[in-house]
Amino acid sequence: MIDPFGRHISYLRVSVTDRCDFRCVYCMAEDMTFLPKAEVLSLEELERLCGAFVRRGVKKLRLTGGEPLVRKNVMSLFRGLGRHLASGALEELTLTTNGSQLAKYAKELAAIGVRRVNVSMDTLDPDKFRELTRWGDLDQVMRGLDAAQQAGLHIKINAVALRGVNDIEFDELIRFSHGRGMDLDLIEVKPMGEIGADARLDQYLPLSLARTEIAKHFTLTETDYRTGGPARYFKVEETGGRLGFITPLTHNFCESCNRVRLTCTGTLYMCLGQEDAADLRGPLRASESDELLDRAITEAIARKPKGHDFIIDRRHAGPAVPRHMSVTGG
Ligand code: SAM
Ligand code: SF4
Repeated sequence: MIDPFGRHISYLRVSVTDRCDFRCVYCMAEDMTFLPKAEVLSLEELERLCGAFVRRGVKKLRLTGGEPLVRKNVMSLFRGLGRHLASGALEELTLTTNGSQLAKYAKELAAIGVRRVNVSMDTLDPDKFRELTRWGDLDQVMRGLDAAQQAGLHIKINAVALRGVNDIEFDELIRFSHGRGMDLDLIEVKPMGEIGADARLDQYLPLSLARTEIAKHFTLTETDYRTGGPARYFKVEETGGRLGFITPLTHNFCESCNRVRLTCTGTLYMCLGQEDAADLRGPLRASESDELLDRAITEAIARKPKGHDFIIDRRHAGPAVPRHMSVTGG
């Protein structure tokens, strides 16, 4: 699949549920209304949709959410998709998780062929963790990390940089992650979804500032390492570990975008930061053959926009797009 700007689309992210066992303050409002179950695709339908993308050349699949591991029976979807790994059609099957259920599923994920997981953890302070996630338990996530490493999964920690919340902890997060052989990505907060007046502006910390601070204590050497994602990676000489900066606001990375995103209702977003979307549930359900679906995918890719227009400042404190990150998945 090649879009109008000549970019090869080889990466599909799938939000398998909009529900979550946490309520992170930058991601969700406290009282979220979730989709009625009837609107959500069955796991079999999601598997068929993913299969269509794999046939069209998708090499990397990431399941996300909401929290992917709280979807009932989600392991049957992983198992089904794992077959594309075994056949060689798919190069990587992975997930982004808050880690709360990793202790339970790490072994099975590894057995299916998952090699890497992204675990979101913004702070090492249990009280702050509870405040940030509203419902989360840091100990449980730590047990998840242990189980994942025992199962041989490579872990990347994702931490959203939040002004006045975890900005004094970056050094500690670097030492902790690298000390355990895990990569660390710092992420700029994106203006997605309504989370309360002015909250976004308060949270936003440009990573250029974070990098300057970190560079006071660590030697950062830029590398050309890429994961197929938007991060720019640095080697931290003191720890030997990798540190990534994901900067949608201060550094636009759209020119190398290779991905599209599917929601659990079968809506395909060709860009995380734009409203345009294509309905794939209709064509999926209209026929048992994939002909209509294929056509809808082709039409959607032909509409992939050049890039997003995220911006957070005093005049733009509201969301750039109304949907929360948990809808399209991170
Ligand atoms: N529940 C899983 C998790 O937390 O890893 C997967 C879904 S979550 C939406 C995916 C990633 O998006 C997480 O790393 C989370 O920190 C990040 N995220 C959520 N809301 C965000 C926002 N407004 N800006 C930037 N990153 C955000
Ligand atoms: Fe849930 Fe992940 Fe959003 Fe936190 S960031 S509320 S864990 S979906």
